[in-house]
Amino acid sequence: MSDIAGNIILLGSQLPSTVRLVAVSKMKPVSDIIEAYNAGQKYFGENRVQELLNKKDLLPKDIIWHLIGHLQSNKVKYIVPFIGMIQSVDSYKLLVIINSEALKIEKVVDCLLQIHIATEETKFGFSMDELCENLKSYNVLNLKNVRICGVMGMATFTSDTNKVKKEFGYLRDCFYSLKDGYFGSSIYFKELSMGMSGDYELALKEGSTMIRIGSLIFGQRK
Ligand SMILES: *Cc1c(COP(=O)(O)O)cnc(C)c1O
Repeated sequence: MSDIAGNIILLGSQLPSTVRLVAVSKMKPVSDIIEAYNAGQKYFGENRVQELLNKKDLLPKDIIWHLIGHLQSNKVKYIVPFIGMIQSVDSYKLLVIINSEALKIEKVVDCLLQIHIATEETKFGFSMDELCENLKSYNVLNLKNVRICGVMGMATFTSDTNKVKKEFGYLRDCFYSLKDGYFGSSIYFKELSMGMSGDYELALKEGSTMIRIGSLIFGQRK
């Protein structure tokens, strides 16, 4: 068995059946993705649109692709036809554009709202204040061609586990307050996407329903 297949199987055996594993294949070749796919992995995450477009035509059609990186408005139309989920919705404007592109092809696109939980400035995402302002001003449930399925966040890159745990706990609290405040009537609002190779165990303890794992499956990226 290849390392990649072994890693997929090992991780899968450690996860509760309610938690979804998204294999993050950014910067990794198609051959690596095939190995993971052959080990039973169906969900893959990429963070760049061009890279995703290049790869997906070379790969099995039943792969479910998640976009996990910042999405530029002008690229939305390229991914809407096939994307399984856009985890990185970080502005209301982007949500409106996804909705209108999805409407054109009569599709409904699953989305997560990315919330900024880290102290690093470089990570994208809404602040909770900004998000609540948006949700008060606009009725996102009126955008019929996007389906808000929950939230996504990235913790600070640090060895301070207490800090990471707090950030995940904060994201979980955000999830529940959004659910209570705005999405109570939606059966789809149920995903809490948090946890990467270095911190997924902490994320699971804090209630993650979806982990995004790259290097632990495919090895370090260059
Ligand atoms: C790269 C990336 C991951 C995976 O990171 P690893 O540390 O390799 O597991 C998860 N989420 C996002 C948003 C990423 O950009």
